[in-house]
Amino acid sequence: MYVWYLKDIGSIGAPGVINMDYSDIQTIEHDILVVGAGGAGIRAAIECAQKGLNTGIISKSLLGKAHTVMAEGGIAASLGNVDERDNWKIHFRDTMRGGKFLNQWRMAELHAQQAPERVRELEEWGAVFDRTDRGLIHQRNFGGHRYPRLAHVGDRTGLEIIRTLQDFCVHQGISTHMECTGLDILLDDGRVAGLLAYWRETGRFVLFKTKAIIMATGGGGKAWKVTSNSWEYTGDGLGMAYRAGAELIDMEFTQFHPTGMVWPPSVKGILVTEGVRGDGGILLNSEGTRFMFNYIPERFASETADTEEEAAHWLEGDKEARRPPELLTRDVVARAIKKEVEAGRGSLNGGALLDIASRRPADFIKRKLPSMYHQFKELAEIDITKEPMEVGPTLHYFMGGIRVNSDSQQTNIPGLFACGECAGGMHGANRLGGNSLSDLLVFGKLAGDGAIHYVNSLTTSLICKNEDISKIIKNAIDILNSDNGKNPYLVHEELQNTMQNNVGIVRTGEELQSGLKKLDEIKLDIKNVSAHASAQYNPGWNEALDLKNLIITSEAVTRAAILREESRGAHTRLDFEGEREEGLHYNIIIKKTEQGMLAEKNKRDNPPSELADIAYASLKELEGEIVEA
Ligand SMILES: Cc1cc2nc3c(=O)[nH]c(=O)nc-3n(C[C@H](O)[C@H](O)[C@H](O)COP(=O)(O)OP(=O)(O)OC[C@H]3O[C@@H](n4cnc5c(N)ncnc54)[C@H](O)[C@@H]3O)c2cc1C
Repeated sequence: MYVWYLKDIGSIGAPGVINMDYSDIQTIEHDILVVGAGGAGIRAAIECAQKGLNTGIISKSLLGKAHTVMAEGGIAASLGNVDERDNWKIHFRDTMRGGKFLNQWRMAELHAQQAPERVRELEEWGAVFDRTDRGLIHQRNFGGHRYPRLAHVGDRTGLEIIRTLQDFCVHQGISTHMECTGLDILLDDGRVAGLLAYWRETGRFVLFKTKAIIMATGGGGKAWKVTSNSWEYTGDGLGMAYRAGAELIDMEFTQFHPTGMVWPPSVKGILVTEGVRGDGGILLNSEGTRFMFNYIPERFASETADTEEEAAHWLEGDKEARRPPELLTRDVVARAIKKEVEAGRGSLNGGALLDIASRRPADFIKRKLPSMYHQFKELAEIDITKEPMEVGPTLHYFMGGIRVNSDSQQTNIPGLFACGECAGGMHGANRLGGNSLSDLLVFGKLAGDGAIHYVNSLTTSLICKNEDISKIIKNAIDILNSDNGKNPYLVHEELQNTMQNNVGIVRTGEELQSGLKKLDEIKLDIKNVSAHASAQYNPGWNEALDLKNLIITSEAVTRAAILREESRGAHTRLDFEGEREEGLHYNIIIKKTEQGMLAEKNKRDNPPSELADIAYASLKELEGEIVEA
């Protein structure tokens, strides 16, 4: 029998050392355990519970308090309510073009086909979207989407989605375990058998015995200094899956959203929704020039307005007019802002000016963008109905993530599934705004289906081995027992500086290599990190545990970025400008090996011809349904 020494985690007072028998650990059993209570996790759990499986969700924070609740602009689905020319094929085409054709074809197909059904389902479950004059779900314009496609609730769409899912989920008999952080997956003969977690409040460990795990832990933006992400996004799902032997895909593609707040410094990085540009906002440099007209890529030239007059016609609703260049994909707009700043034409605090005040009346702005109005009023003392906002790129989203089968969402580990932002493959080299919320629902449901199928076909029983449990606990407890280790907050800061400076919006081989070297040093610091105290209410310990996932996430991004010697989508290499033909034919896969982390190129299969026909078709063909799929 193993006995571990750990700090007194149950009592008040000075931390002491007590014996703990692993058999004392609280144990909870579920058929399926969902890790993460954002949109993807809750939607997956609903599917499992509705089919009668004993389902549990654990969440690092509170139910519904996830990235999904922060989503502002909307959810993309080709409902065709505002422009009847829209259909799933054009949504699919836009997604593939936005992803620079590196998306998993099947995932993009399923997503475009099933998103409308998932949005209507949400409405049936009680979501109240903004309406058109005809009483249909309203849809707004967003970057890279050919037609108004984003169902929304002002700029608080995520709140409505999570509220609806949460209300629905609590009536399905799902057990929710809040403020419970997953540490590591337990395997039995290579298959999922459980997960070890701890309660954040007490520091006590809890063993979840389960036949399948659905990872839905979101991204890892907290590896960067300037980010729109909140404290929860430390790449935990990526870390846990990687340590268990799952592969990661497309990690080099990290999205820098073009419009984060740049001033005051305390709020730098907080998101300014793309809805501002979707509703008519324009970008100006310090000389008052609407600079996006100078940055229209060849691929999008035929579908983008090239004069201010045409862009103005589009805003007035002229269906023949082309979209303004401010609605080009995020990678293009983010790089353009960076270039303007570098050329000395940046705003006072090093960004660009986003102006909606001169395009829309104040009551429209307050109605459609209420959160933005309050955000700038409260945080920057700016009235956006009168003045422009200062904005600049902020790390926002992970296109890459855990590699899954496109239909079942299963990883290469039997019983381990992933969906939502922590899964990779759907968005290729760049995600279109609004495509995450629809991704969560489509693939949340499919992950639920996949896990149900897997669990129902299991014939053997599973065992969580005591030595594996003990190893995870020892790793966690060592941090509490160490007196002289590094301060986890300072190590996190060092990591963020490294990622910000070496693995930023534009990259070079030299910077990436030196970043990788620094990450190696940080890895050693993380091994020696200390949060000397009780496990109870110990945020330093929580932070130290998160670092184990942040470092895996950061190393994976850096290694993949080194290997991709071209510029594509969100990955820009100054030493390898432009897309290379070869780059279209592989995805980068990250694997755990005995020698450490390995990044390798994985050849892409040729797309099914019917999907290639759609992706490369002209709009006229698709609008007229000439291409049959
Ligand atoms: C400010 C902002 C605005 C956005 N606006 C839009 C938009 O308008 N449209 C759009 O499509 N997308 C938008 N996005 C992106 C989108 O919101 C996210 O990609 C999406 O919500 C991710 O959902 P998810 O379910 O995968 O994860 P999340 O919603 O991020 O949820 C992750 C869950 O995992 C839990 N978790 C994490 N680690 C652990 C662990 N170790 N143990 C237990 N639980 C854990 C967290 O507590 C949380 O419950 C926005 C993002 C931000 C930050």
